[in-house]
Amino acid sequence: MSRISYEEQAKQNVNKLLDYASRRLYLDDYDRVYAQNALLDALKLTEPYDGQLKPYEFYQVMDQLSDYAVRKKIIDEHEKLNFETKLIGMVMPAPSKVVEMFDDIAAYNGAEAALNMLFKLGEDSAYLRRPDLDKNIIWEHDDNKRGKIIVTINLSKPEKTPEQVRLAKLAKGGYPKCMLCAENLGWAGNAAKPARQTLRTIPFELDGEKWFLQFSPYQYFDQHVIAISNEHRPMCVTEGTFRRMLDFVDMFPHYFIGSNAALPIVGGSILAHDHYQGGKKVLPVFGRPERRTFVSLKYGNIKISVVDWYNSIVRLEGADRSSLIKCVNAFAKAWDEYSDQSVDILCCTQQDGERVQHNAITPIASKNERGEYQFNLILRNNRTDEKHPYGIFHPAEELHNIKQEAIGIIEVMGLFILPGRLARECEQIKDILTGKTPLDLRSIAGDDHPLHKHLGMISQLAVDHGTSCTESQAENGITAYINTACERILDTTAVFKNDEKGQQAFDKFINSVI
Ligand SMILES: [Zn+2]
Repeated sequence: MSRISYEEQAKQNVNKLLDYASRRLYLDDYDRVYAQNALLDALKLTEPYDGQLKPYEFYQVMDQLSDYAVRKKIIDEHEKLNFETKLIGMVMPAPSKVVEMFDDIAAYNGAEAALNMLFKLGEDSAYLRRPDLDKNIIWEHDDNKRGKIIVTINLSKPEKTPEQVRLAKLAKGGYPKCMLCAENLGWAGNAAKPARQTLRTIPFELDGEKWFLQFSPYQYFDQHVIAISNEHRPMCVTEGTFRRMLDFVDMFPHYFIGSNAALPIVGGSILAHDHYQGGKKVLPVFGRPERRTFVSLKYGNIKISVVDWYNSIVRLEGADRSSLIKCVNAFAKAWDEYSDQSVDILCCTQQDGERVQHNAITPIASKNERGEYQFNLILRNNRTDEKHPYGIFHPAEELHNIKQEAIGIIEVMGLFILPGRLARECEQIKDILTGKTPLDLRSIAGDDHPLHKHLGMISQLAVDHGTSCTESQAENGITAYINTACERILDTTAVFKNDEKGQQAFDKFINSVI
C-alpha cells in the first residue's frame, strides 16, 4: 500500500477533528460546515476529505495537523502548540454558549455539576493538557505527627525567582497586560504567552464587582481554579477581599478560595493582577485540627483557634457572615500593624524615609463540615536583613536547590510545587548514590557544574547512604531528603515558631485582637 500524501492525511485529520468536536466539544451539526471551512482555510486546503475515518487519537491528530502547517510554511516550528490551540478554538462553542451551558446545568443540577462540565470541556479541548499534566511527579509525605505534605515536581512550568516576580509587578504595557487579564479569552498567543482560543471562563459578581473564573492550566491539585478580577489591578488584601471570598464559597460551597499575600517573597508569582486560587478542599491544611482555641468577649459567636500546622494560622469559624467579616478584618488590620521584637517580627521598616510594609496575610475561605464559614488566616512577613538576605521567614540559600521561588498560598497550605529541573537532577544524583557516576565533590563544587547547587545535598546523602545504593535505596534517600527540606521550608515560613516562646508570642498577638 502506498503512503498517503501529507495533504490527504491533513484532510483526513480535519475530518477527525470535526468528528471529535461533534462528540466531545459540543460542535452543533449546523456549525459543522462553518467550522470545516475555517479549518480548511487555516491549513490552506482546498477541499474536505469524503471517505471513511479510521480510529484516531486526538493529540496525535493535532500533532500531525500542526506538523503539516510547519511543512507548508504556514507556521514556524515553535508556533505548533499555539496553532493547535487555534484550530481547536475553531470547533469549540463560543464563550457565551459555554456560559449558557454552565448556567443551565447549575440551575438544574447545581454548581458542582456545572464545574464538572467546564472541567471536562477543559480536558477534552486540550486547554488542560492531560498528557502533560500526567508527567508531573507526585507523592505524599506523612510523618503522622505534623500533618501530611504533598510534593509535586512540575514538569510543565519554568521556575520564577522572587526578583523576576518583583519585576513582573513593575512591568506595564503590552496586550493582554498579563496572563490573567480578561482579554486573554481567544487571544492568539505569542512566544512569551500561550494561545487562549480554548479558554472558557465563567463570569459572576463578587461583592458587586465583576469577576470571572477559569481552571488553572497547571492543575496543581484537583479542579484548581483561579478567580480573577475583570480589572487589571494589583493584588491587594482588604476587607472587600474577605467579602468577595464569602460570596465565592456561597456560590461554590465545595471549593475553597484563597488569596496570596500582596507582597513579594511571600506572595504568588503574579502580583500585578488581583486574583484568588481555589478548588477542591484537598490541600493538607484542611485536614488539620486546631491546636488550641480562644474565648473572646468581642467575637462571642466566632470560634477562634490556632491550627496545628507548620506555619502560623489563625482559624476563624462562624455561621454569621457579618460578625465573621468583622473578626477577620480585625485580625488582618491588627497583623498589619503588629510587631514583636522578641520573635523578630517587625511589621514595617523605614527605607529612604518611606514605610516599607512587611507583615501580610494569606486568607483562605471555605465552608467547614458544619456548613459554617471558615477562614484560615496565614500570617506572613517578608522582611530581610543582613543575615537573611532572602527573607527572615523565607528558606535560606541552603534550601534553594529544592525551591527558590516565593513560597505562596499553595505551598503554605502543604502542597509543594517543585521545579521540573529537579526530576532531571535527582536522576543524576541517584547515579552518584548507586555508583554509576563516580562521586567527585571537588568537581561538583565548581560553579559551572550542573549539580553545583546540590553540593550540600549530595554530600549529606553520600554520608548517610554511601555510594553503592540499590536504585530504590537511592530513590528513597533522595525522596526523604526532599521531604525534610519541604518541612524545613514550611517551618521557616512560620512567623511564630512552634516552640514555647513562639507559641506564647502567638497567643499574645491573638489576645491583643480579641
Ligand atoms: Zn491582568
